[in-house]
Amino acid sequence: MTTRIPIVENILSANDRMAARNRDLLDQAGVYSINIMASPGAGKTSLILKTLEALNGRLKLGVIEGDLATSIDAEKAAAAGLPAVQINTGGDCHLDAAMLADALPTLPLEDIDLVLVENVGNLICPANFQIGTHLNVLVASIPEGDDKPYKYPGMYRGVQVLIINKIDLLPYVPFNMDYFKRGVEILNPGVVTFAVSSKTGEGMDEWADWLVERVKNNGG
Ligand code: MG
Ligand code: ZN
Repeated sequence: MTTRIPIVENILSANDRMAARNRDLLDQAGVYSINIMASPGAGKTSLILKTLEALNGRLKLGVIEGDLATSIDAEKAAAAGLPAVQINTGGDCHLDAAMLADALPTLPLEDIDLVLVENVGNLICPANFQIGTHLNVLVASIPEGDDKPYKYPGMYRGVQVLIINKIDLLPYVPFNMDYFKRGVEILNPGVVTFAVSSKTGEGMDEWADWLVERVKNNGG
């Protein structure tokens, strides 16, 4: 008897094989890569642009933007002078390894140290699909509320770095940082965390400095 469970496993393992191929391609080119995940409106694109500013030429970036539709975000990255490619998922709510495999060769990898992949804005399934990047980063933002670790545990568990964005809004919206951090700590003890504002630039230097070290120490 065939059940549904083996079918799901086959899809995931095909994705994982493709993800491993993406990783090989990146490693051969000496490119480090980050999968940036967040809910819609958490500020992924503006964080990427602020990161470019804070890096101040220390790393050569490339950007892959994932969205259901439009090329608005890739156009913003290109306008900032970055090699950028847009993936339109055509309605899919996450990026998968095959999409990244199509996008990577369109970037000038030989001229890039770090590829920032902006996943589709969604706090549920992007964490379940490996795409071959080296590091998973979650961008949380103050206006989303302090209960998100409790409501979306899979996403908070699956990342190596947490960026808390829009901290400039802390005086204006109810957000209990202790409650938020307790939730994170249960799911992902000791996760590397940065508190930033991509509007004011607060905290961006710490994040950019950490990123430079990480890329240099990991074969970027
Ligand atoms: Mg965006
Ligand atoms: Zn999805």
